[in-house]
Amino acid sequence: MTQVVEQNANDMATPVPAQVVPHWIGGARVAGTSGRTGPVYDPATGRLAREVAFASVEEVDAAVAAARASFPAWRATSLSKRTDIMFRIRNLVEAHKEEVAAFLTAEHGKVPFDALGEVARGIENLEFACGVPNLLKGGFSEQVSGGIDVYQIRQPLGVVAGITPFNFPAMVPMWMFANALACGNTFILKPSEKDPSASVYVAELLREAGVPNGVFNVIQGDKVAVDRILEHPDIAAISFVGSTPVARHVYETGTRHHKRVQALAGAKNHMVVLPDADIDMAADAAVSAGYGSSGERCMAIATVVVVGDVADPLVEAIKERIPKVNVGPGTDPGAEMGPLITREHRDRVASYNDNGAAAGATVAVDGRDHALYKESDGFFIGPSLIDHVTTEMDVYRDEIFGPTLTVIRVETYEEAVRLVNDNPWGNGTAIFTRDGGAARQFQFDAHAGMVGINVPIPVPVSYYSFGGWKASLFGDLHMYGPEGIQFYTRAKVVTARWPDPGTSKVDLGFPRTR
Ligand code: NAD
Repeated sequence: MTQVVEQNANDMATPVPAQVVPHWIGGARVAGTSGRTGPVYDPATGRLAREVAFASVEEVDAAVAAARASFPAWRATSLSKRTDIMFRIRNLVEAHKEEVAAFLTAEHGKVPFDALGEVARGIENLEFACGVPNLLKGGFSEQVSGGIDVYQIRQPLGVVAGITPFNFPAMVPMWMFANALACGNTFILKPSEKDPSASVYVAELLREAGVPNGVFNVIQGDKVAVDRILEHPDIAAISFVGSTPVARHVYETGTRHHKRVQALAGAKNHMVVLPDADIDMAADAAVSAGYGSSGERCMAIATVVVVGDVADPLVEAIKERIPKVNVGPGTDPGAEMGPLITREHRDRVASYNDNGAAAGATVAVDGRDHALYKESDGFFIGPSLIDHVTTEMDVYRDEIFGPTLTVIRVETYEEAVRLVNDNPWGNGTAIFTRDGGAARQFQFDAHAGMVGINVPIPVPVSYYSFGGWKASLFGDLHMYGPEGIQFYTRAKVVTARWPDPGTSKVDLGFPRTR
């Protein structure tokens, strides 16, 4: 039995996080009944802030049943009505962006301007989905044969699920549910258990916007919930964003259960700097993209590949900038870089500095020297810079997912491209140069889903899709934008003929004539 919790259900203006973050099923908060919960920390203080319910198989089934029951009516809701609701969602999220961002700062730790940036990029996806009447237009071919027309329509899949990572607790769900709902599907969100509160607040905004009960549901939890989603016979498709091992598991298990799956995975993004690059611009970009959001972005720059004799000046320019990065909690208005998500993750990130040094790299700046690493109970570490890295070192091979920039020095453009292309991941990459021909060649050569030219975080806008290559993506379609519409719909081709007296006859043959 599920128990509805009334706490804070209608209070949009002053959200108070629950002590145990609940599920959201059938348009209401529902307390967990499994007896299992997980801890949710305030990363800036290191304190346990609250718990989150971990769903049982039965609780997942209850959410899927609610989504399944609401699908026929939602699917039959007119396009203009669904569009109207998408506009309302967009306006409500915009009106309450500060509240959504506050949840991100409280549980993820990202500083307020970064949290607001995340919400803004999520809103772009809601805006894209407001164009759904245009996006769902099919094609029509008149008179393909005598009196026969053929046309294609795209229809929703049914109940679809989204499983999301800790690093974008508001934006990544919006990558998924905006298009999924606009196309007429009903949705189950399984957010990260590390920062779950924003998901319930956004669910309340959706209800306020007029999304019918059961169309959007949130199931909190861990592997138990994910594995039930992967096997549930009533779920038609799964969108996943997270680490590569889990993405592989989600893709392999979901497709084995005959589901459509797109699983966006880990990354190790290279920024290639050619000798003619503007060094100040490249250094600014490396620092911004390496340390922004404490390096906990899938499009963060992890490795700077410097070509030729600009390595020393570039490393110096990065070193000069690092002490000016203001590390601090989101409550400090000047803070630019917050804590990491957990103590365990912070300690793992820190361990790469000794690991790199032992392997022969030079730790040019050690984030463990930062006062907050030494003195705070929060999960802080300062920016690290590790120079003279080579491809066989763990600091290069592993996804560190923290504020650690590594530098590899090479002699030629060809060597730099080989490095980018030989790396198992291919989420994004960037080149810094003043040479248009070299940049164009890099765009042609690079094995990555997103390429930046003098732009370190080449994140597309919502009307292009987002996704990597190689071990950064399992599945065929990228997320959001036009490929998102394709993912959340299936094609139906209709061949139609209307009675025309005197033209009908029995014909057992397969049409031969044109
Ligand atoms: P994660 O893989 O640990 O978790 C992602 C989701 O999977 C969460 O909801 C989690 O509860 C669930 N999960 C975790 N372990 C599981 C297991 N063993 N079985 C089933 N489900 C499990 O990822 P994370 O640490 O939350 O996020 C960081 C990772 O996400 C990084 O690797 C980062 O590169 C990646 N990421 C990729 C993109 C992209 O677009 N490619 C975007 C954001 C983050």
